[in-house]
Amino acid sequence: MPPRKRQLPEIPPELVGTVHITPIDRIYNWARKRSLWPVFFGLACCAFEMIGAMASRFDPSRFGMEIMRASPRQADLMIINGTVTKKMVPQIIRLYNQMPEPKYVLVMGACAISGGPFKEGYNVVSGIDKFIPVDVYVPGCPPRPEALIHGFLTIHARMERESLRDLQWYHKGQPDEGVPVPDLGPDLVDWRLTDQIETLHQQPAE
Ligand code: SF4
Repeated sequence: MPPRKRQLPEIPPELVGTVHITPIDRIYNWARKRSLWPVFFGLACCAFEMIGAMASRFDPSRFGMEIMRASPRQADLMIINGTVTKKMVPQIIRLYNQMPEPKYVLVMGACAISGGPFKEGYNVVSGIDKFIPVDVYVPGCPPRPEALIHGFLTIHARMERESLRDLQWYHKGQPDEGVPVPDLGPDLVDWRLTDQIETLHQQPAE
C-alpha cells in the first residue's frame, strides 16, 4: 500500500496571512535554544574566559542565557572549563547526574579536552569525555569568548536538528540511571570498567 500523504489542515480564507503552520519540533527547539542555562562552576584559567563571555561585552542575553545557575537542577548546559583533576571528576559527574534532561556538555580548552599542558600530571584526567558524554569541543589554551560563543551556536544548531520523537528522554520505560560516580583512591576507579579490570587481573603475569 502506498504511504498516505499527510494532509495539512485547510486555513479559512479570512485567516490567510494571519495563521502560520509549523512543526511542533521547530517551536519547541526554538524555545529551548533561546533559554539554555549553564550551571555555574569553574575549574581553572579557562573559567575566566567563560566568565568574560558571560559579561556585558559579549552579551549572552541575546541567547537568553545570561543567568548562570548555581544549582544543577535548574541548568541544562555544563561547561567544562579548565584542568580536570582526578579529585574533581566525582564532583563533576555528581553535578552532571543532577542536571535534568535534556542536557548538553560543552568542553572548552585543551586541558578539559585532553589534559592539555598537564596531560602527564599524576593528578590530571586526560579528557572529561572519558567519563561523561560531550556534545561540543571548543579548542584553545584558553579559547577566547568568541570561540565559546561559537560553541554555544554549535549547540543551538544541534538542538535544531533534534526531534521530540527521537529523543530518548521523552520515551517511556526505564529511567536513565546516570553515569556511575567513580571512586577516588590511589587512582580513579570507573565502575563501568569493572569487568575489564577483573579480566586483566585474572590473567597470569608474563
Ligand atoms: S587550556 Fe590553558 S587556559 Fe585552559 S585551563 Fe588549561 S592551561 Fe588554563
